[in-house]
Amino acid sequence: MSEESLSTVLQQDHSFEPSDEFAAKANGKAEMYAAAEADHEGFWAEQARKYVTWSKDFETTLDWSGAPFAKWFVGGELNVAYNCVDRHVEAGNGDRVAIHFEGEQGDTRTITYADLQKDVAKAANALTSLGVGKGDRVAIYMPMIPETVVTMLACARLGAPHSVIFGGFSAEALHTRINDAEAKLVVTTDGQWRRGKAAPLKAAVDEAMNHGDHPVENVLVVRRTGTDVEWADGRDIWWHDLVDDQPDTHEAQPMDSEHPLFILYTSGTTGKPKGIFHTTGGYLTQCAYTNSVVHDVHPESDVYWCTADVGWVTGHSYIVYGPLANGATQVLYEGTPDTPHQGRWWEIVEKYKVSILYTAPTAIRTFMKWGDDIPAKSDLSSLRLLGSVGEPINPEAWLWYRKHIGGDRCPIVDTWWQTETGAIMISPLPGVTDLEPGSAQKAIPGISAEILDDEGKPFTEPEKVGYLVLTKPWPSMLRGIWGDPERYKETYWSRFGPKYYFAGDGAKYDAKGNIWLLGRVDDVMNVSGHRLSTAEIESALVSHPKVAEAAVVGAADETTGQAVCAFVILRKEAVEEADEPGEGKDLVQELRNHVAHEIGPIAKPRSIMIVAELPKTRSGKIMRRLLRDVAENREVGDVTTLADSSVMSLIKEGMSSGA
Ligand code: ATP
Ligand code: MG
Repeated sequence: MSEESLSTVLQQDHSFEPSDEFAAKANGKAEMYAAAEADHEGFWAEQARKYVTWSKDFETTLDWSGAPFAKWFVGGELNVAYNCVDRHVEAGNGDRVAIHFEGEQGDTRTITYADLQKDVAKAANALTSLGVGKGDRVAIYMPMIPETVVTMLACARLGAPHSVIFGGFSAEALHTRINDAEAKLVVTTDGQWRRGKAAPLKAAVDEAMNHGDHPVENVLVVRRTGTDVEWADGRDIWWHDLVDDQPDTHEAQPMDSEHPLFILYTSGTTGKPKGIFHTTGGYLTQCAYTNSVVHDVHPESDVYWCTADVGWVTGHSYIVYGPLANGATQVLYEGTPDTPHQGRWWEIVEKYKVSILYTAPTAIRTFMKWGDDIPAKSDLSSLRLLGSVGEPINPEAWLWYRKHIGGDRCPIVDTWWQTETGAIMISPLPGVTDLEPGSAQKAIPGISAEILDDEGKPFTEPEKVGYLVLTKPWPSMLRGIWGDPERYKETYWSRFGPKYYFAGDGAKYDAKGNIWLLGRVDDVMNVSGHRLSTAEIESALVSHPKVAEAAVVGAADETTGQAVCAFVILRKEAVEEADEPGEGKDLVQELRNHVAHEIGPIAKPRSIMIVAELPKTRSGKIMRRLLRDVAENREVGDVTTLADSSVMSLIKEGMSSGA
């Protein structure tokens, strides 16, 4: 299958049917689609009562009278931490492992639900002693350690909305987020382990505090790395001094279903990050439901591992709230995938017998680049389901994931959702859906999605590129942008009028009616009047054997309106070849022709630049807007959410030296 595009062949002919064995035990059922279609609110009311324990039952499922500001499960009361921890202990599952913690240095901790209950109670008592109460905001700036999960749950228990900020963000980013949320407490660590080294973390909090104007009264510090820290007496407190001696019981108070649970800033791929806020009952319902029907978690037998950082929405919904609400056993890994070597993840899968793995396409493409032989060294036979989230997963990566990680047996769920949607929205149901590599396929039961044309009219014709919208409110939807209700209406509910939630993503249907996500609307290009998607051209580039990863942007062009500019990372073997004198130019030509062959001459990139790294957010998303700045010779925009800020200067140098 060398000449003909693997991806094209697959898109058209090849889907993977669920095995009977998987289908027989799957939590998701085909009938759910019709049930939700027939009675949208009734369906969600049923899920809310099935997955959540309410201290007081709700009276009204949905109040949409103040649209686009929704109220779900009105009149209901619950405590999220009780649902994620205490009720499992009460049900006799206190001995079940909640968290297998694996530190980057190889230190481990096994935390049962009974342990977690005590840890959360102590932390809730400690926070109370610092004057944190219902409605107060708490900023969490921590690495992937159990105390982070415990702190989030302690906040939820007290009704104090948390704002988790990526451990990789700068003091500047931290300062604006702390101030935007007016957090009175910051919880952090002395440092974090990153690639075998202790990197300071509290230092950034100190720097943020040095701005002077801040609402913070206390900084609670977990000792993780033993890194030296500066200390502000009266403000700073060690976790072990305050939390360890607290009573290990705590009475959870029920919260209103619409009480704010957390604020979380989006990753900033399209502009300045927005403080998205979520509430209690609806959010927990949809997290638990999707973790059950999409990840197919069976809490009594599965070992689940979501590799996201807890500072990203995936970590909130699918490390903390969804799996813990379901009483699942999960792995929490602190470090990077290549410490101390590139097989670390697969050793973890083997060690804990992970059965469900949820990760991002950027990670999968990195593993492809590192080589098939690395996962082959570990026993991955415990895996039974794989998931993907964060970006479109191109068919090549999907197939590689299935073959080299999933042993050609595990279903893959490609899950589309956003910080704003709170939980999974578009995804196959494993055991029900015939899987189509590269497509997120279909809105899950209870969710309604459509694709609109430029005039805002829904269409279903295949291969036409349009705008993804959601047509009905859903329980875990954002309740707004913190402190800015107008921006909420304008960003999401005005593009196509108040009936449609505008997701900001381009999409199309294939001939079978599957939805394909095509990247941000800003990333859908118009070249000589043709609508082209960045995701499709990137997928074509990655289908070339020498390419590991690609990012495509549309740059202003006098003749064609926009022109396709590509940035590619080569696979290891190809890098050496391309370094030979003269070889680089030939390769660029070869890749341009390859795209023309895969998609059509119109998609042929005007320029292809070979780079060593692409600018990515900490959650692993490519920041195309920065590449567009480079391609259009502009000053590079807001880089505060970039994982590695040196990447952009390297790319700019490469540009000016004409590489
Ligand atoms: P910002 O909104 O600040 O630009 P962001 O959109 O990257 O940041 P997130 O909420 O983390 O922040 O990401 C949601 C976006 O990620 C979606 O709108 C979509 O573009 C992309 N995405 C997530 N999952 C998938 C998927 N399975 N397939 C395709 N795209 C996906
Ligand atoms: Mg977004």
